[in-house]
This record gives sequence, C-alpha cells and structure tokens, in this order.
Amino acid sequence: MSDNPEATTTTLRGQCLCGAVTLSVQHRAPALAACHCSICRKWGGGPYLSVEAHQTPAFKGDENIAVYDSSEWAQRGFCRKCGSHLFYRLKEGGFYALSAGLFRESSEWPFKLQVFIDEKPGNYAFANSTREMTGEEVFKAWSPDQN
Ligand SMILES: [Zn+2]
Ligand SMILES: [Zn+2]
Repeated sequence: MSDNPEATTTTLRGQCLCGAVTLSVQHRAPALAACHCSICRKWGGGPYLSVEAHQTPAFKGDENIAVYDSSEWAQRGFCRKCGSHLFYRLKEGGFYALSAGLFRESSEWPFKLQVFIDEKPGNYAFANSTREMTGEEVFKAWSPDQN
C-alpha cells in the first residue's frame, strides 16, 4: 500500500451486475476518466469510463474474477458470471482503472480526463471540457524515467 489514508479519504464500494464480485478502495477525489483506445472500444463497445486507483482494491468473490492479459504491460478483469468489466490494471506499479459503472456514486463524480484521444473515432465526442492526453503522453506519464 503506497497510499496513506487521511481524514479526507472516502471508501468507494462497488459491485458487478450479478453481485458475485464486490470491491472497495480508498480514494481522496474520485473522478471519471475515459479511454478511447481501440482495445478499450473492442473490449466494451465504446470508450472505457473509469476511476483511477493507485492501490489494489479489496475484492470479495475473487474466484469469480477472470483476468485477461490485454498487452505485455496490462491486464483486464471481468466477472466470470455476468461479464461486467471490473478493471484495467498495469502488471507493475499498482495502477488500476476501475470501471466507473460498478460504483453507484460515479454519477456524481466530475469528468476530468480523456486518454488516447488520438485514437478516438471522429463519429462521436463528449461535450465535457476535460484534460486530454494522447497515447504517447500517457505512456510518457507511466514511464519510470519520468517523475
Ligand atoms: Zn458478476
Ligand atoms: Zn484504452
């Protein structure tokens, strides 16, 4: 656990469609991020809306979680029973992008970031004003050489 819980931290609790998997994670300022990359769109049919976590969430029902290696550096988890998408995670470093839809409160979070904006198809666009990052900028931000 790299995160040091503080008084302002809230616990986010979520669950999949069928309830076989539940999770909780500490967060200071939950916000929505959208990924427009081609893998996310193939995985879910459209951009992946998530909340970032920099610690491993506490999962219940682990035996119902299937994990797919979607690249050399990342994995995607989903519920074996209902197929709900649970997370995108880096194999190293403890970064998770948890599916926003698992959390009922996600409708109240601000929408702050869009990544892989360079892979977004031209036939849709969110009206929200957010920070935007290209794939190259995302990989740079993840690289251990950068701070
Ligand atoms: Zn499920
Ligand atoms: Zn993506």
